Amino acid sequence: MVNVKLFNDIRKTLNEKGVKLIAVSKTKPLEDIDSLYNEGQRVFGENRVQELSAKYEALPKDIEWHLIGHLQTNKVKYISPFISLIHSVDSLSLLSEINRQALKNNRVIDCLLQFHIAVEETKFGLNLEEAAEILGSEAFKKMQNIRIVGVMGMASFTENIELVRSEFKNLKNIFDTLKTQFFQSEASFCEISMGMSGDYAIAVEEGSTMVRIGSLLFGER
Ligand SMILES: *Cc1c(COP(=O)(O)O)cnc(C)c1O
Repeated sequence: MVNVKLFNDIRKTLNEKGVKLIAVSKTKPLEDIDSLYNEGQRVFGENRVQELSAKYEALPKDIEWHLIGHLQTNKVKYISPFISLIHSVDSLSLLSEINRQALKNNRVIDCLLQFHIAVEETKFGLNLEEAAEILGSEAFKKMQNIRIVGVMGMASFTENIELVRSEFKNLKNIFDTLKTQFFQSEASFCEISMGMSGDYAIAVEEGSTMVRIGSLLFGER
């Protein structure tokens, strides 16, 4: 069930801090998205291409759609005409396909580099060295139709608040390092996507600029 009151409370708190709210609507029906749309929310996040495309088709076109889940190269073409931000870029080959599809659609697609900051093995993402290699490559420098606007990461799924905090600090450090090394003169490199239902308050304390909140707003999945 959609918690409209909690949504408005969270939005107000985040607004005051200048942090963007991505409402993560994965697995939830169109009516639930409508409920928050009617409250004024325009940014929604999904983690699967097929579901995202279906929801894009069905819902108002002033919604900004973010892809937050792992993206396979062969699926980029389905979202490239309309996607606002891809949070989950973790390879040069994926970046190059996004660039190719963006060019076909005559647009520039904004992306975040996803970093592996958690202790869990299964999560996708780069480390700093791999990111530096991508950003320093000739192939990357030639890409005209993508824009890297920041970084994204998921903290460990744990009750250990200090561990979560240290992982968010790590992502903030990665952002600062990349900013200095590669994006000094680019004001558009400014986003740190971190924080979910269970840990967004800590993420905001540690410098998050956009939080991705699902179950707290829409109920358990
Ligand atoms: C599902 C998901 C979220 C939202 O998770 P909640 O715990 O429901 O807030 C955020 N980020 C990513 C990458 C997700 O897959």
